[in-house]
Amino acid sequence: LVDFCSLNRIAGIVIYGFLRDSHGGIEAAQELCRYANERGVRIIPGIAIGAYGGVYWEGDHQYNLSTWLKKNPQFAATMEKGVGFQLADLSFPLNFPHSDYTVSACPSAPETIEWMEEAVSWLAETFDIGGINIESGDYGVCGCDRCVARRKNDAEAARRRDDHGDSWSHTDMAENFPRLYRAAKAKKPDLWIYCEMQWDNLLDPVASDAQTSLPPGAIYQHTANRSFWNRLRTELKRDYVEALPTQPNVLRCQFACQWNGDERTERYALNARVFADMATVADKVGMDGLTVWGEVSSYCATAELSYLAFARFCWDPTLTWERFLDEDLAPRLGGVEAARRFVEIAEEIDANQTLPVSRLAELRAKTLAASMAGDGEVARRWLTLGEQIARREYMGA
Ligand SMILES: [Zn+2]
Repeated sequence: LVDFCSLNRIAGIVIYGFLRDSHGGIEAAQELCRYANERGVRIIPGIAIGAYGGVYWEGDHQYNLSTWLKKNPQFAATMEKGVGFQLADLSFPLNFPHSDYTVSACPSAPETIEWMEEAVSWLAETFDIGGINIESGDYGVCGCDRCVARRKNDAEAARRRDDHGDSWSHTDMAENFPRLYRAAKAKKPDLWIYCEMQWDNLLDPVASDAQTSLPPGAIYQHTANRSFWNRLRTELKRDYVEALPTQPNVLRCQFACQWNGDERTERYALNARVFADMATVADKVGMDGLTVWGEVSSYCATAELSYLAFARFCWDPTLTWERFLDEDLAPRLGGVEAARRFVEIAEEIDANQTLPVSRLAELRAKTLAASMAGDGEVARRWLTLGEQIARREYMGA
């Protein structure tokens, strides 16, 4: 992944679960940072305030949340509801089992934020990271008396009661983010500190008073699910972005990945057009960047070509789809006609959750013939598309 980013001028990689004993703990994380820095790629651990396992995702470590809460059970959050939620743009509900990974701490306990602050300082001084992505955590909100009294935010409480509503508190984020931002910057002034503004609220912020206190210079990341992106495409304007209390701002795509779509999700789809579109519109409205999900290996050609679109259109938002096809896809797929055919086939299988087996067989035969006709990487790309179609055939739709 680092090599891919370096070759294609993708600036950084956010990693949730950056520190875990089963992946080699501190030493493995330091080695990863060294490898990435040598190649000009920023490693950016993703953390949440009082959730997502703390700074040390998994292991018997003082900055692991579950370890800390076992020693200090009085700081555990009193959750408003169980962990899990339903995204309007995903066909099934998300439920997370209760475990050491899903515990949360109460953000109104001063000890929680002191502990987080200390952990973030340690993170910034122990590893050659390039930034930190900070969320409020979407496992839910602490409903203890102190938290309810402190927030006094009826608008966001109402949103959380909605079935498709928020599982986080913007007020908690706005109150606690600045301390973690300062703790990290004090150790490494060059860090990119992302502040996750959570999703689908860019056009109607619910805690704008609290948000005016957010420090300039952090990177304010606004996440969009697919339906909300469809609104942003036409409703978001440059003067609105320029007047936001938080600066600078970037978009985060919450679809074109496992978090949106029908039962297949959009994880293995050809998402190249989506990324091209988002990068182009983001640039037009004054957003300074775009983040996308990158969990699928670039071995799979639909993912590889989607990441490539992300890289190219973010680097040059004036790029057109036709030029991308000619310059980037054609040499990778066996010529411009082949590239057009690849996109057509991939988009047909993505657009139809079910297809007759006879049609799938026809498309599989075409892709495997193109694979046979190509060499090396060209063959591999067609093969992985053919393999995706063969799975559908095997399942009967
Ligand atoms: Zn609380």
